[in-house]
Amino acid sequence: MENKQLQFLAKVSDILTHDVSTKDLASELKTLLNEYTHIKNLNVYVYDTVTNTMRDCVNNWSVIEDFSDLYTAYESIKEHDFVINSKAYKLPTVISDITLKIEALYMPIVKDEKVFGLIGINFDENTSVNMEFLFLMKIFASQVSLKLQNIVLNEQSKINVEFHDSMKNIAKIIETQYELNYIVPIIGEMLDRFITDHLIYVFLRKDKEYQLVWPKACKDERVYEALSELTPETEYILTNGDKIGVFPLISEEGEISGCIVARSTLDKLSKRDISYLEQLTRQSAITINRANSYSKILQYATIDALTNLNNRRQFELRLGQEIATTKRQKNPLCAMMIDIDFFKKVNDTYGHASGDAVLRGVAGIIKSALRESDIPSRYGGEEFAVLLPYTHIEEAKIVGERLRKAVESSPIPINVEDVDVKSINVTISMGLAEFNSAETGEELFERADKALYDAKEGGRNRVCINQ
Ligand code: GH3
Ligand code: MG
Ligand code: MG
Repeated sequence: MENKQLQFLAKVSDILTHDVSTKDLASELKTLLNEYTHIKNLNVYVYDTVTNTMRDCVNNWSVIEDFSDLYTAYESIKEHDFVINSKAYKLPTVISDITLKIEALYMPIVKDEKVFGLIGINFDENTSVNMEFLFLMKIFASQVSLKLQNIVLNEQSKINVEFHDSMKNIAKIIETQYELNYIVPIIGEMLDRFITDHLIYVFLRKDKEYQLVWPKACKDERVYEALSELTPETEYILTNGDKIGVFPLISEEGEISGCIVARSTLDKLSKRDISYLEQLTRQSAITINRANSYSKILQYATIDALTNLNNRRQFELRLGQEIATTKRQKNPLCAMMIDIDFFKKVNDTYGHASGDAVLRGVAGIIKSALRESDIPSRYGGEEFAVLLPYTHIEEAKIVGERLRKAVESSPIPINVEDVDVKSINVTISMGLAEFNSAETGEELFERADKALYDAKEGGRNRVCINQ
């Protein structure tokens, strides 16, 4: 072999020793080949046996349409060395001095003697190559095959790992959560992160109407048109040239409880995306159904399952009773609203399981800072409401300050799988108000909530009073 060819192969080996993506590899090989003979472009295609489609590995693994020559090239290359200008070609055993006019060259990517993809090269018009070049390309293709096997397998298994993580996370969300308004956005976010080329929308069905619950808006009329075609028997609907997919969430009773929509303006949903979405939707439906039955049971409960404090319903009941007593006996009564500061950041940084642990921890501190007669409750997400009977605002302020300091100075233990930190510190903001006999319980807490807002505005980690 000539020096020039040996040098070329040495440079190829050199490129192959680096860790690169398929995309970068293709561009480096293109540059190198160009030094040897002028080419227009170089592409790498892999046959995806899950979806039976050719994938363009250089362009985000996008699907190659069925009618492309690539499929014929892929079929006909199997017993040959190349496909040159659409004809399968086998190298002769001896090098002759024939030259060939060449426009398109496909070379097989082989694993265990089986073709699993193609390297495609397009040449400038009127390029001709000799046998030596083709021999060189044969060695080139087998060198590159090895490398591609590894990269492709890696990129593939990364997708699989992410998929299984998403499935696991969706299954895990509600050990103690049952509010759909809380669960659904988390599911939406997870799907969105996994299905990267498409926007994800989650709809829930109430009173025969679909309500968008994640994200905030969907302006695409075609999505709503597709929704109206859903029936409980629908596997999924593909519309708008397969760029929109609708996957129904089916309840335990076999009815549609909502749906997950994937939409793109550019990309079709591939068979692979569809298969992932089907599985993720099924898992989401299980989680949502579980939440629904859980909340039915909890309709009769008085305690919040996560924090063991009174739940909102029970709180409202107790509020009514306390207001009545206070009015009758003319006792003082104070309202306290608490909200954890920057709680979203805890979820975003350490995950929702850690967020839950923090909620439990803060609830514990609240309980231990109060008296027996006080009535603490989980008011909503990360908000707590407390009723302080027989308490004037001056005392409430002392209790509140003590509680605020206790939270500030207590690291809350975190014992969550895959989370490195052992504890998290948070602060709370608080609003206080004292009952006046001219108002309702609701109005009292509205004033406490205003004071809480002032505490947030004032910089957080503080107690404010509504006079
Ligand atoms: P601010 O200081 O203004 O209160 O900031 P924040 O981040 O605490 O406020 P925001 O109200 O934006 O965020 C509240 C977050 O609490 C959003 C929601 O995802 C989260 N959350 C609500 N309920 C739960 C729950 O039960 N568990 C967990 N882990 N997070 C919850
Ligand atoms: Mg809040
Ligand atoms: Mg908050």
